[in-house]
Amino acid sequence: MLSPHATPADAAPTDADAERARKRAAFEAHKLEKRLCREVGRAIVDYSMIGEGDRVMVCLSGGKDSYGLLDILLKLQARAPVRFELIAVNLDQKQPGFPAEVLPNYLRGLGIPFHIETQDTYSIVKEKVPEGKTLCSLCSRLRRGILYRVASELGATRIALGHHRDDILATLLLNMFFGGKLKAMPPKLVSDDGRHVVIRPLAYVAERDLIRWAEHRRFPIIPCTLCGSQENLQRAQAVALLREWERKHPGRLDNMLHALQHIVPSHLMDTRLHDFAHIEATGRPDPEGDRAFDADPWPEAAPAGEQVVHFR
Ligand code: SF4
Repeated sequence: MLSPHATPADAAPTDADAERARKRAAFEAHKLEKRLCREVGRAIVDYSMIGEGDRVMVCLSGGKDSYGLLDILLKLQARAPVRFELIAVNLDQKQPGFPAEVLPNYLRGLGIPFHIETQDTYSIVKEKVPEGKTLCSLCSRLRRGILYRVASELGATRIALGHHRDDILATLLLNMFFGGKLKAMPPKLVSDDGRHVVIRPLAYVAERDLIRWAEHRRFPIIPCTLCGSQENLQRAQAVALLREWERKHPGRLDNMLHALQHIVPSHLMDTRLHDFAHIEATGRPDPEGDRAFDADPWPEAAPAGEQVVHFR
């Protein structure tokens, strides 16, 4: 029974409230689906990722990103002006506790072509890598080789991976901080064995959208901790930094991605990309020229209450 001081907000939700919440959730899910399709479609077009007659091998790990990738590619395939095939591939690495039936059941339910490649790389990695050392480097090398072989056997013309915008930006930071290179993760590139074209159709997609999409679609997620290996600490820190930036300055990550698409070699320092040696005054005004004494066009200090992040 409600107290005499109860407000309408204290009342138990009615059927009408539930209906309103249901409609709101459906509306939000529809908006999210449209955004995901638009961004994946845009990346595919911008980088000519998929063309007429392509056979696209979609690498499925059981994580939210690769489920999302396959899901959105299936939607785009149904309405694309070009015809292309999709084949889902999972590598069962025989990690202890890997629920081997989850992906085949899911893919059978979708009614799409798929291939499960079973290779006990887990035992190899455990045997070769000394106790306490990280397994990931050898594990991913083995996995890459196997997936390339499978792609050849399946006649795939594209290998699609589920890396998203935030993975690309984290890689950019890691390469700057530890690799001394301005280098991220390419949306499309030939594989290191020179025999395959690797594409990343989620290049424009924010990770938070993939998290929400996975919840909405209730993908049967397989935990990624089965191998017992720790997530790379430096990558985890880069991801945390990006999340913090986005929380304090919404839009910053999109700006960073935009920057990767608008590079000005004359304002960087790579002598291989810009001919610094032969620079001479032209006498013609150039809006891209040096503005030697102008103030920076961005705010001088972080707004009150914000911390400035210092890198050591
Ligand atoms: S986290 Fe596990 S499965 Fe993933 S690369 Fe590292 S060792 Fe391999």
